Amino acid sequence: MPPTATLEDIKAYQRKVEKDKIMPDNLPPCPRCSVESMFFKIHAYRERRFLIIIEMLIKAAYCSLVRFKCPGCGKTFTDYPDFAVPHKHYTRPSITGFSVSYVESEDMTYQQAVMVDNSAPGYLQSDSTDAPTLAPTTIHRWITTLGSFTQTCRTALILLLQENPASSICRDLARLIIPQRKYKTNQRKKQLIGCRQLVIIEAFFQAIFKTSIFTKLAMRCAFN
Ligand SMILES: [Zn+2]
Repeated sequence: MPPTATLEDIKAYQRKVEKDKIMPDNLPPCPRCSVESMFFKIHAYRERRFLIIIEMLIKAAYCSLVRFKCPGCGKTFTDYPDFAVPHKHYTRPSITGFSVSYVESEDMTYQQAVMVDNSAPGYLQSDSTDAPTLAPTTIHRWITTLGSFTQTCRTALILLLQENPASSICRDLARLIIPQRKYKTNQRKKQLIGCRQLVIIEAFFQAIFKTSIFTKLAMRCAFN
């Protein structure tokens, strides 16, 4: 089964939006004028299209995201449900699941990384803007994104070490290596390692705090 958020996850968030249950508290303070996010006001609702994978078929599911506005300067901020990653249509379980299988394997290619049980998830009816199946270049881009949450990872690591100073996490992170055939540039190597680090930090975070770093922390770090 390919990793994906479910239609139920998306509908549950939509119900929270409709019942006015989405609060701005998880957002960071305004970077322009330092107003705390609890004082932000609802500004707009934006419909977002998500792509989920049901029995190897890629399907669109729609959900409203809430935009808040800083009362001090008017800057706007989006609240993201934990299945969403900014600027991505696929859901976080798909983005992390496919990326992890690539970065943790010794010799997998991007072409192999999109395959689940000998086929790639595809669209029932492809419109012109979408590739007919999940594309290898999409996994490449996901890893670029996941490898760039530097501030989120650093903050999570500090919290983990505060909670358990004897944790093995620093040793686990230092041990990570990426096979040389997977990158041509130092920048790509950094992204691949960043992606692997994120996966390890997320696993420790889940074990200690019983929640994902994407539920709140990543948003507080403005997905940096
Ligand atoms: Zn502001």
